[in-house]
Amino acid sequence: MSKVDLDWGKLSFSYIKTDYRYISHWKNGAWDAGSLVTENTITIAEGSTAIHYGQQCFEGLKAYTRADGKIQLFRPDRNSARMNATADRMVMPHVPEAKFIDACMQVVKANEKWVPPYGTGATLYLRPWLIGVGDNIGVKPAPEYLFGVFCIPVGPYFKEGLKPVNFIASEYDRAAPRGTGAAKVGGNYAASLMPHEEAAHKGYADCVYLDPATHTKIEEVGAANFFGITKTGAFVTPLSPSILPSITKYSLLQVAKDNFGMKTEERDVYIDRLDEFAEAGACGTAAVITPIGGLFYKGKLHVFHSETETGPVTRKLYDTLVGIQYGDLPDPAHWIRVVE
Ligand SMILES: *Cc1c(COP(=O)(O)O)cnc(C)c1O
Repeated sequence: MSKVDLDWGKLSFSYIKTDYRYISHWKNGAWDAGSLVTENTITIAEGSTAIHYGQQCFEGLKAYTRADGKIQLFRPDRNSARMNATADRMVMPHVPEAKFIDACMQVVKANEKWVPPYGTGATLYLRPWLIGVGDNIGVKPAPEYLFGVFCIPVGPYFKEGLKPVNFIASEYDRAAPRGTGAAKVGGNYAASLMPHEEAAHKGYADCVYLDPATHTKIEEVGAANFFGITKTGAFVTPLSPSILPSITKYSLLQVAKDNFGMKTEERDVYIDRLDEFAEAGACGTAAVITPIGGLFYKGKLHVFHSETETGPVTRKLYDTLVGIQYGDLPDPAHWIRVVE
């Protein structure tokens, strides 16, 4: 398969119009068959609940080219399950797992010339989305829904290898204690735009959100989950109903346990007890891991391992998970789905 002419290693996380996307319409209680289309715009009713009341959600996952040229998806069943959990919270219809994975596979296959080759560090990012549409004005679930998947080639997040960055604890909340923090909805992102801008303006990569009820415990790091490696070598990650359950985070937790025999804990992480950690990181599909150099809180920068060097445990967890994602390392837990 000949590829499009792109400088794969230099790609950033920016929109590129690829050739095909998938779209399916839900009406009268059922999904249509869904199909690939070339047009990258949609026309929806002016009263669509997605526009007015935020009845929508999305997912993000990647396709990787292996050394043997085959293309594989990483845990798409988990993205499907999370999208349906979000759909429940937003009173939207489920997209059956088979339909979700088939849509992703169709999009990858139809855009094969856009899938970055092995060894470039680049990947194909898939963006599934689900929105409420149809004629409506009242605050209630939409009469119709659209489910779509599009894809863009994205470059390696860190062009020169893993590099720690600094974060700042935010005064703002991204979600309420029993709100929609655990759902992958646009509203949480809308709420994060201003805190992010303020953090960036002060010279930080992004903000760390504390638990909305007491502001004493770490919840999210920008749009990624937090993990820390304690000085005794345990993998620790916060547990809270307002954290978005990161698939990367649970995969790292399992790698820590299964590949390295580390102790793992999901529990409260207090912002005034950061001394318990030798290393810390943010994790999510986009970067896999962003090492946290320092965290600014109450007038002082707490440095974990180093502001310039990635810690050894963070690095080995990263290398192992990325190795599984690219098919370089065995996949003992059946996380991989080959696109065929
Ligand atoms: C998507 C997302 C993550 C990361 O989840 P992954 O499944 O690892 O990509 C973390 N936090 C928030 C708020 C998110 O929206």
